[in-house]
Amino acid sequence: MSTIVVSNRLPVVVESRKDGLRTRPGSGGLVTALSAVLRRAKGRWIGWPGLFDARPASVRRVLKEAAKSEGHGLVPVHLDADDYRGFYEGFSNEIVWPLFHDLPSRCNFDPDYWASYLAVQEKFADVVAAEAKSGDLVWVHDYQLMGVGQCLRERKLRARLCFFLHIPFPAPDIFAKLPWRTEILQSLLRYDVVGLQTARDLGNFLDCVKRLLPEAQQRLDDGRSIVAFEQQRTVCGAFPIGIDWNEFVDVARSVTAEVRVAQLREDMRGQQVVLGVDRLDYTKGIPDRLHAFHHALRRYPELRRKATLIQVVVPSREKVPEYATLRSQIERAVSQVNGEFGQPGWTPIQYLFRNLPRRELIAYYRLADVALVTPLKDGMNLVAKEYCACQVDGNGVLILSEFAGAADQLGVGAILVNPYDRERMADAIRRAVLLPLDPRRAAMRRLRRRVRKEDVHHWVGRFLSAVAYAGGRRRSGARSTRRGGGE
Ligand code: UDP
Repeated sequence: MSTIVVSNRLPVVVESRKDGLRTRPGSGGLVTALSAVLRRAKGRWIGWPGLFDARPASVRRVLKEAAKSEGHGLVPVHLDADDYRGFYEGFSNEIVWPLFHDLPSRCNFDPDYWASYLAVQEKFADVVAAEAKSGDLVWVHDYQLMGVGQCLRERKLRARLCFFLHIPFPAPDIFAKLPWRTEILQSLLRYDVVGLQTARDLGNFLDCVKRLLPEAQQRLDDGRSIVAFEQQRTVCGAFPIGIDWNEFVDVARSVTAEVRVAQLREDMRGQQVVLGVDRLDYTKGIPDRLHAFHHALRRYPELRRKATLIQVVVPSREKVPEYATLRSQIERAVSQVNGEFGQPGWTPIQYLFRNLPRRELIAYYRLADVALVTPLKDGMNLVAKEYCACQVDGNGVLILSEFAGAADQLGVGAILVNPYDRERMADAIRRAVLLPLDPRRAAMRRLRRRVRKEDVHHWVGRFLSAVAYAGGRRRSGARSTRRGGGE
């Protein structure tokens, strides 16, 4: 029995260079944790290698080479430019992403996208079906691939099929706007396990099932939610994803980080650093945050020359016009604040539009006296957890949006804010900047304890224990069916 992870992108990046194809290892806590699982299980990772014009045989060859150093298999799914447009840019990013982040007015419900989405689910399923054997565990990830399980059931694959959604699941009034709402719910209920980030997401999913698929039966078993629909029973649960704690703490404590932090601190000339770190995305609430900081400087003169906001924005989807507009909006807001309040020796907002190397990012986390993590909606938000891990001196303050999945775990210890409420955000910034050392340290201790305990390895363990539970139920269900029982 083996394990197969399926995600839209492979954990290595394949690049086309003048001298041929090359691979570069991916990064991030999820990749680290899942790669460890795959190495132990002698498993494989299936996904799109990130380019469409390369010869499939060449891609397979470089991935085979990369697999040796990764310690597990890497199997490509080939997509063409039309798939990328319709399935990825279209269905995934113009429909599911905004809808599941509670922004239905940003959706473009183009029926052609749905057709492309279905075709790509089949492409992924073809590759998985060719790789998987009876009894294997197939663990599918995220919103781009919700339908792969159903395609595999249609191929009569006798594997354990599991799914984890990394983004939020919306409430029924929002989800119901999706023209393919029933199909999506039905396809999710073909998996043995469906994992969501938070109790709220799980509740929303179960409410959607209740409203839109009333024939599905729901009950609790050993404290787990089970949905029975047609011939399938699905164990549904909340599994908040964590970070690779040790990786962040080790780097944050390193001598190189110390040296870099000391250098940055000198540049800040004794000012308190408030830090924002986000991918360029409209769900992150960056303009709202900048307006709140602006408001704080207007309302509380004592913050002037005392606090500097460092806002890191990581470029993303820049060719999409909406993202280009967002970038200009952010840059306009930054220059407004700096124009109004900047003085020789103090720039209120330092704006970095680039991807920081991990070591540099960790130095910024360690430097920051306050982290301002205020997405309008977020599945989890790893930046909040990474910031806490890097507070090795225990002094930082976390201001966190109540609409980030992380607020469930970090609500005690963080200052929670509504990112739409500019006035209270401004108050929270002032409170955080002026907070004395003792309460800062007490709150950060609580946050760090939680982030450390519920790290990414803990998340993998909890998810796999739900998979084992579902497997146990399936076996006992099969026995009782043979005896003429069952539910
Ligand atoms: N990050 C990065 N480079 C940067 C800034 C951030 O790689 O310059 C990483 C960060 O360490 C975090 C991820 O980007 O792991 C952002 O994850 P999050 O869950 O906060 O948001 P997402 O972008 O996945 O919506």
